[in-house]
Amino acid sequence: MLPEHGRSGEDLLGELGRLREGDLPVRGGRVAAYVYDPGRPHVREVAHRAYLEMLEVNGLDPTVFPSTVELERQVVSAVAEVLGGDAATPGIFTSGGTESIVLALKAARDTRDSAAQDEVVVPVTAHPAFHKAAHYLGLRTVGVPVDPNTLRARTEAVAAALGPRTLLVVASAPSYPHGVLDPVAGIAALAAEHGVACHVDACVGGWVLPWLEPGRVAPFDLSVPGVTSLSCDLHKYGYAPKGASVVLFARQELRRAAYFASADWPGYTVVNSTVQSSKGAGPLAGAWATLQALGASGYRELAREAMTATRRLIAGIADLPELRVLGGGPDAPLVALAGEGVDVFALSEAMAARGWFLQPQLSYAGIPANLHLTLTGVSAHGVEDLLEALSASVEEVRGVRPDGVTELVELVRGLDLAELDDAGFAGLLSSLGVGGAGGEGGSGGSGMAAVNAVLDALDPPTREALLVRFLAALNSPHTGAGG
Ligand SMILES: *Cc1c(COP(=O)(O)O)cnc(C)c1O
Repeated sequence: MLPEHGRSGEDLLGELGRLREGDLPVRGGRVAAYVYDPGRPHVREVAHRAYLEMLEVNGLDPTVFPSTVELERQVVSAVAEVLGGDAATPGIFTSGGTESIVLALKAARDTRDSAAQDEVVVPVTAHPAFHKAAHYLGLRTVGVPVDPNTLRARTEAVAAALGPRTLLVVASAPSYPHGVLDPVAGIAALAAEHGVACHVDACVGGWVLPWLEPGRVAPFDLSVPGVTSLSCDLHKYGYAPKGASVVLFARQELRRAAYFASADWPGYTVVNSTVQSSKGAGPLAGAWATLQALGASGYRELAREAMTATRRLIAGIADLPELRVLGGGPDAPLVALAGEGVDVFALSEAMAARGWFLQPQLSYAGIPANLHLTLTGVSAHGVEDLLEALSASVEEVRGVRPDGVTELVELVRGLDLAELDDAGFAGLLSSLGVGGAGGEGGSGGSGMAAVNAVLDALDPPTREALLVRFLAALNSPHTGAGG
């Protein structure tokens, strides 16, 4: 509730601190997804100061705040020069990978040869941002299978999906779930042959792959013939504060098609490079400062450390017969662990009890359920502890299945969701013992194994419907936390 009289800063920060006690830590590497810790306090410090310095600047109008133009030019050209472009490569600084992908698809749509081109061909391992972008832009996605062993997209499968309705094809470098690279050159060549666009999703890999030993992975950037756009998130392996990504275009025309202008009202003239209109310049300044503070050698070091951790983890997993690395080993510091006779959701819960967050990934398109780890520059320090925790957790959950899943699945299948409002759904969740926010329940902790097992047993549309209901219930006054 809004207080009648303003509260003191001390009081407010005290409350924030108490609220944060329920969050998992953003530093130290024990939360193996979502957060990227460079482990360099001076870098974080300067990024925070730069962010605050630009906090109140509005990126909406570059003529009023020309500092944002200079910062964006510097950030975009630094990224382009590393990713197969040069200082003149057109690009846009965005709030994240999703926004970069929305803009890449808008650019393709608004430069297409024919309005009949409304299909985006995505390997099934591509990020949901493509489904979201297609949904927002009036396009549709066409999923293509990946190789069941390597989990890389198959060029032949992409070729088979290409047709007169194709607008754009996607290749991931690498895919988020398993950290493996699609055959970018093959897919881009196909796209070029058919005269369609090709987007390389290097959101997660774009700022780690270039810093590994040269030749370690096949070329994947704008230098590959046929690639028309590429996304690279700086708030991932760029280690910048959240809200930072870059989308690059092979041609100037594409960047212009990503922009939006409107003079259809009596107010100020609107020309936006992004989906957002008014926007703080903090993320831009934070990303700029992080890039400049780390420099190429800093990123090389961080990438090396993350890969060392990855190799050590994989070697350790080889000694645990109950776990196996999906895709035959990643190309980047992202690992997916499937279980052999252990339930990965129970394992995730056991790991949470030991202070580790491993991200559950549901089974999909023949790929088994697994746990994802994003390793970063600080992971190497903790990898022995991680292996020990994994080994102990495997012992603990061997043969354990979350309770009552079959009954829960039946119950969910029999639900008429339309009959339940948010309070009703929240009541159902709590009667089933599923925590809301602010407890262990929301953070991969107690109770999540059963939830994930139930979701895993359902088809994707039902999963989606339940997730939406869950989020709405979470954000309603009827569920735990908050008050
Ligand atoms: C993270 C990610 C995205 C989406 O990025 P957000 O910054 O979360 O919007 C897209 N693609 C890949 C491969 C990613 O890893």
